[in-house]
Amino acid sequence: MLRYLREVASTLKGAAIGMGVTFKNMVRPTVTVQYPEERLDLPVGFRGLPVLLSDVDGNLKCVACELCAKACPVNCIEIQSHRGPSRAKVLDAFNIDATWCMYCGLCVEACPFDALAMSDVYELADVDLANLVYDKERLAEIGRRQVTATINFGIKTGGEPTR
Ligand code: SF4
Ligand code: SF4
Repeated sequence: MLRYLREVASTLKGAAIGMGVTFKNMVRPTVTVQYPEERLDLPVGFRGLPVLLSDVDGNLKCVACELCAKACPVNCIEIQSHRGPSRAKVLDAFNIDATWCMYCGLCVEACPFDALAMSDVYELADVDLANLVYDKERLAEIGRRQVTATINFGIKTGGEPTR
């Protein structure tokens, strides 16, 4: 009989501890969000898609030096340029293949002209892989949505999620 009572007490104690844990978690602040209706406020410096930055006149800062492409460990940056009348390089093409990019930020760190930044754009899923090769125009368009200074090699783009 005594043994039976001990087992009942032990079971009740276990149940009480379990209910205590459940109750504690019930009243704890929620840490999940209802994505995609809700989105986390990402910190500046989050490593999303690398994008091209422009100056105040809207001109790309990139001078086609190719240091970013050389720094990229997976060779997913393609740059084409030619020499203009002043012998300065003119950027013809700047492509980033987002299917290869591993969002390491080494390209941004390598850029001496603040012409590239890691953006907060991360919703890149697509059924057509060709759409995941971001050309100069698309990278510049996202970069022009910059709403913060460049911090930790990253920018916020603000507004709606971008493609
Ligand atoms: S973030 Fe990394 S992998 Fe992506 S383009 Fe830059 S250097 Fe290459
Ligand atoms: S390192 Fe900067 S300036 Fe040079 S090609 Fe890359 S983005 Fe352009």
